[in-house]
Amino acid sequence: MPTPPRVLTVAGSDSGGGAGIQADLKTMLALGTHGMSVVTAVTAQNSLGVDGFWELPPEAVRAQFRAVVDDIGVGAVKTGMLAGAELVETVAALLSDVDAPVVVDPVGVSKHGDALLAPEALEVVRGRLLPVATLVTPNLAEVAQLTGARVADASDLPRAAEALLALGPRWVLVKGGHLPGDAVDLLTDGTDTHLLRAPRHDNRHTHGTGCTLASAIAARLAHGDALPEAVAAAKEYVTGAIAAGFPLGAGIGPVHHGY
Ligand code: PLP
Repeated sequence: MPTPPRVLTVAGSDSGGGAGIQADLKTMLALGTHGMSVVTAVTAQNSLGVDGFWELPPEAVRAQFRAVVDDIGVGAVKTGMLAGAELVETVAALLSDVDAPVVVDPVGVSKHGDALLAPEALEVVRGRLLPVATLVTPNLAEVAQLTGARVADASDLPRAAEALLALGPRWVLVKGGHLPGDAVDLLTDGTDTHLLRAPRHDNRHTHGTGCTLASAIAARLAHGDALPEAVAAAKEYVTGAIAAGFPLGAGIGPVHHGY
């Protein structure tokens, strides 16, 4: 068996297995890559919400990262929940000299409304993390948090993307999935622009959607896809995963990874 493409997630653990590190590793396996993890925080979480979380010390995050990168190497990196300002700063510094594409999912608040990022960390995401991102993948709430731009309908997507590009990432994918109608996302680097559209699935079991999309993009990039192709393939993957999302516990169940 030859070595498969190697993909690293730097993110939080979801004890319920639907989002975070667990969703990332399932996605990476489903897309034919070897998934690796740097755990930033541990959440106590189930289908009803996040009961609490505990950050790892920056030296534990640094040690995990160095252990992976210095021996195994990475073809692409995805970041998710980074919890606090010090960890955002630590991860941004580690990523600044990695020679691989970096997909940043700027996780702010969970679907249940639980804060997964300290308010004072937002400034560090803007100033330190986004400039080292190959691609940033905010939903509309995260766009508003990061730029103040409000997206009321699809015609507002280009302005939101522009505001994000000004913060320094190479590419921006603004996810319009929370708008009514088809799930429309805008991908742009400022000159090359793609509107991605998928039919809306009326399935409330969508826990882990954002983690899954960003991980699928990283997996396809590690396979060697150009960025727009990686995003299109990942959108197709997550659309299927949402369509097959299943009930789990008493609340919102996870997207399905096709085992
Ligand atoms: N828990 C962790 C550790 C996450 O990283 C995320 C999202 O990125 C979530 C929970 C929230 O997932 P969702 O908004 O899909 O419920």
